[in-house]
Amino acid sequence: TTMAFKELDTQSWQVLDRAHYLHPSTDHASLRQTGARVAAHAEGIYVWDTDGERLIDGLSGLGNVNIGYGRKELVDAAAAQMLELSYCQSFFKTTHRAAISLAEKLTSMLPGHLNHVFFQSSGSEANETGTRLARRYWDLLGKPEKRIFIARELAYHGSSHMAASLSGIWPMHKAGGDLPLSNVTHIKTAYQYRNGFGMDADAFGVLAASWLEDKILEIGADNIAAFVAEPAQSAGGAICPPMTYWPEIQRICKKYDILLIVDEVVMGFGRTGEWFGCYKYGIEPDIMQVGKAITSGYLPLSGTIISDRVADVLIDQGGAWDHGYTYSGHPACCAVALENIRILDEEGIVENAGKELAPYFQAKLDAFADHPLIGDIRYVGLMGGLEIVKDKASREAYAYEAHIGDFCSAEALKRGLALRANGDTMSLMPPLITTKAQMDEIFDITREALDATA
Ligand code: PLP
Repeated sequence: TTMAFKELDTQSWQVLDRAHYLHPSTDHASLRQTGARVAAHAEGIYVWDTDGERLIDGLSGLGNVNIGYGRKELVDAAAAQMLELSYCQSFFKTTHRAAISLAEKLTSMLPGHLNHVFFQSSGSEANETGTRLARRYWDLLGKPEKRIFIARELAYHGSSHMAASLSGIWPMHKAGGDLPLSNVTHIKTAYQYRNGFGMDADAFGVLAASWLEDKILEIGADNIAAFVAEPAQSAGGAICPPMTYWPEIQRICKKYDILLIVDEVVMGFGRTGEWFGCYKYGIEPDIMQVGKAITSGYLPLSGTIISDRVADVLIDQGGAWDHGYTYSGHPACCAVALENIRILDEEGIVENAGKELAPYFQAKLDAFADHPLIGDIRYVGLMGGLEIVKDKASREAYAYEAHIGDFCSAEALKRGLALRANGDTMSLMPPLITTKAQMDEIFDITREALDATA
């Protein structure tokens, strides 16, 4: 195959990288000192760089490459679709078969009241659609004062203005001047290690949900559009709620007539060991966002999935809704998603991840209980977090300046494993196709990296 770029050595690529390519969420001054690893090709769970060094991708890219790298079927699906119909707008009473098929497929996989899909290219955009739609819904019902969104600390919903406002990782709020935060408020999250240490887990789940009710009572249900949350929080540091949390949240949203928006951008398509986090935790959202692993990262695509309750109002009372993207429902992206879902299903990849791999993965995580640096161990399905603390007894954290998590991930990288630090929590999100032997390798390196950090 012919690539679209010239042949250069690694150093030359790094020079050009520094000169012209601004990376997402990156400290470029620090990047200038180390240089970036130049990825060249990938297969399964491995990525090779231009020097031929192999890296295990313990993060599935950014929690999206669930099926692993290099599946030719997905490439063929994109190529076939592009040859047939490379682009199609759906603004002006035109549609196409790939988008229709994917919308039908997604809704068939979800609870019965979720019957409508709006497409975008990213999770951030899906959250824009979901929040704009929630306000539109209340406007159409004659309740325009229901505008405020309640989100949670340590949430991550994306990098556009609204998605960053919903996010509860505070440095993000400083990343580009003031955000329109006046219509977003945050509550504490179901993070037992920091917000309910020593409590019975079930009781803590109920307590954490009650923080939503407290906030509703404080600002008034008449002013609130929706509660927005991830089933389990990924970028916040693998924060997984007790099983009592979501039924309570659901009950509270119903009681006060507040829409429930569930961001499944990371959890969707098998990360929890179920197809969707909603099944894992028993959630029935009014609006739900999916993205990332919908295509396993082969092409960008996200979906906002909308319940009959919301869609009926939009369709019957709404007239034109001026919201849409040039790449809403891109044919090649939809074709790749269909093929990805087919393989995840027919090869039993999601089922195997939940039944076989997740218990193995979780037992491996539990084995870190004796490690002097690890204060808390959290997981759901194939998402895990190991929280580093300075003192296990007092749960005291390292000083921020120590960047202890980044130190540990650098140690892992040296040993050939991509491991991410979310604050002081080392996050693991291996591809769903990881074998048990590969899992052993991932955890051997993780232990070595932690030992080198201690
Ligand atoms: N929502 C969640 C839960 C995420 O973790 C992310 C990204 O990591 C997003 C939304 C944003 O998605 P994107 O980066 O595709 O805009």
